[in-house]
Amino acid sequence: VLQATDVCKSFGGRQVLHDAALTVAEGETVVLIGPSGSGKTTFLRCLNWLETPDSGRIRLRGDLIGRDVDGREHSEAALSRQRSRIGFVFQRFNLFAHQSALDNVAMGPRRVLGIQAEEARERARAELARVHMSQHIDKRPSQLSGGQQQRVAIARALAMRPELILFDEPTSALDPELVTEVVDVMRELAVGGMTMVVVTHEMRFARQTADRVIFMDGGLVIEQGPPEQIFDAPQAERTQRFLGHLH
Ligand code: ATP
Repeated sequence: VLQATDVCKSFGGRQVLHDAALTVAEGETVVLIGPSGSGKTTFLRCLNWLETPDSGRIRLRGDLIGRDVDGREHSEAALSRQRSRIGFVFQRFNLFAHQSALDNVAMGPRRVLGIQAEEARERARAELARVHMSQHIDKRPSQLSGGQQQRVAIARALAMRPELILFDEPTSALDPELVTEVVDVMRELAVGGMTMVVVTHEMRFARQTADRVIFMDGGLVIEQGPPEQIFDAPQAERTQRFLGHLH
């Protein structure tokens, strides 16, 4: 579904991504792990051009994202169409504070996909049910817990019927007791065949749900493989050291 090659990115002269590469197959759940500052979030944001890579190519089912082969940047309108195919779930939910959960979820389909208001609301209700939020559809974000807000944010991504969803540390802004409800929803999506790329420090989620785990350090993909391999028999010394710190 998604293919990223040779992605480089610097901030103020400091290179944080060095030729990072990633291929995600249909229905696959890929989890990115690695130490703080290793470039995971930057890489994820480059995939849908929330961050502009200095070089490299991102392809969604063969279509280039953000920039043509000849280096020409895509227009905002083109980018918006591309982004509508890729869901993004932020660490801090990013919901509209003055709108209900239902309106937050219905807005994308209505505004971006041009779906009629009632149909968009119908779709929003269905997606909110999928994340077990049917009882709270009329509440505003401030009336919801962090875990509930994040589930609304997941429903908002789902309502766009994206080809894949990117998750940027979706549980790290949550109180520990709220992590499970979000992780459970994500697991249900993964099992249901959603294509997902997840940056997380939740090693249990990575171990239990990932089809493939990618370990990044210093802006490089160091090692990747099925969770059993990465967690139980890591090849690279840096992976061993990182995982060793967790025990
Ligand atoms: P964490 O797990 O702590 O979120 P990460 O692996 O996701 O870390 P990134 O957030 O991608 O790492 O950051 C990689 C490096 O790039 C860090 O040193 C960070 O300070 C730097 N960086 C990220 N975004 C910016 C920015 N907008 N401007 C300047 N530096 C940035």
